[in-house]
Amino acid sequence: MSVRVVARIRPLLESELDKDIIVTAASNDDRKTSNVVKIPSPKNEAEEFSFAFNSVYDNQATQEHLFTAEVAPHLKSLFQGLDVTIFAYGVTGTGKTHTMRGGLKLAERGVIPRLLSGVFRRAKKITKDSGGDTTVSVALSYYEIYNDKVFDLLEPLEKRTPSGLPLRAEANGKTVVAGLSERPCEELKDFERLYIESNINRVTAATKLNAHSSRSHAILRVKVTQVTGDMVHESTASAIDLAGSEDNRRTDNGKERLVESAAINKSLFVLSQCIDAISRGERRIPFRESKMTRILSLGQNNGITIMILNLAPLRSYHLDTLSSLNVSSRAKRIEVREIENEIVYKQAPRMNSNSSATGMARQPLR
Ligand code: ADP
Ligand code: MG
Repeated sequence: MSVRVVARIRPLLESELDKDIIVTAASNDDRKTSNVVKIPSPKNEAEEFSFAFNSVYDNQATQEHLFTAEVAPHLKSLFQGLDVTIFAYGVTGTGKTHTMRGGLKLAERGVIPRLLSGVFRRAKKITKDSGGDTTVSVALSYYEIYNDKVFDLLEPLEKRTPSGLPLRAEANGKTVVAGLSERPCEELKDFERLYIESNINRVTAATKLNAHSSRSHAILRVKVTQVTGDMVHESTASAIDLAGSEDNRRTDNGKERLVESAAINKSLFVLSQCIDAISRGERRIPFRESKMTRILSLGQNNGITIMILNLAPLRSYHLDTLSSLNVSSRAKRIEVREIENEIVYKQAPRMNSNSSATGMARQPLR
């Protein structure tokens, strides 16, 4: 299966009601739902570009609609042992944080709180249906990548090492953050408390560093562990709110800001290079050139990947919108293998005991 790429065009804000709309959703066949984004050429307004995606949502799409159509169907796969990655890509001000986090009101909640709510609901059901034989535990990690450095958002600012946390490649090929904290969450309330608290931390930290959260990538990782007897089945859902994809060279001139935006540009630039290389079928993919791309490992991880391209309909975003449309329309061509994570046994079964470093034996599912 390929990376699923969906576009979401945000509505005009109160302050923008008198502005021109230049980005619209359309359909390239007679389906009910849109799958094309249309935008005029910046050189010749009469000429229109069309970009096709798996799905396109316009200003009518609610938070619930987007979640139900694009994320909820993958909850089942998550509990079958597949890793699920959802990331929001787009220019600052286009609705990435609105889509991923959303507002506090029930109807305004974004993908992340709805995902957690779905995870807890499903966990309860699995435990109940198994007659208590299967227990499910959920643990949360939350971190940001700023200037190519990884910071744990669940730890207080004082505990941050200025150089950030290192990445480590695991035996199964996955890249993880070494020393990242993980908090168990028993119910939705635990998650909400932790998430609100750490988002406040994130803003405080950014303010202290004279930085802005739109310049860092925020990654929430939800680990689901299902235990039945001595069988342990683990999978993760990652929800990523990427830094703004705009070209900062046009807007920044202060020295400090320039260094910072160069690094942010770099990771998003590397991401676009990775997408290019993968979509062209090249052997060498420059994943290792930024921490964000190492973690995202597009097309490398087995599982399900959904890219949400956030768009603002305004003319003032024209060039940046075009460039984000170009990057994401190429991402559709990335193939992802849908392979479940292996079941791990707490104790080595007598037969077939290839024990791993943790003393647990691993056995493929099939
Ligand atoms: P980003 O994270 O991409 O910089 P935000 O999520 O902060 O963008 O969105 C910018 C502004 O637009 C915010 O005020 C947000 O509430 C509003 N907004 C974004 N998407 C929508 C939407 N679908 N419906 C209503 N308001 C939205
Ligand atoms: Mg944001």
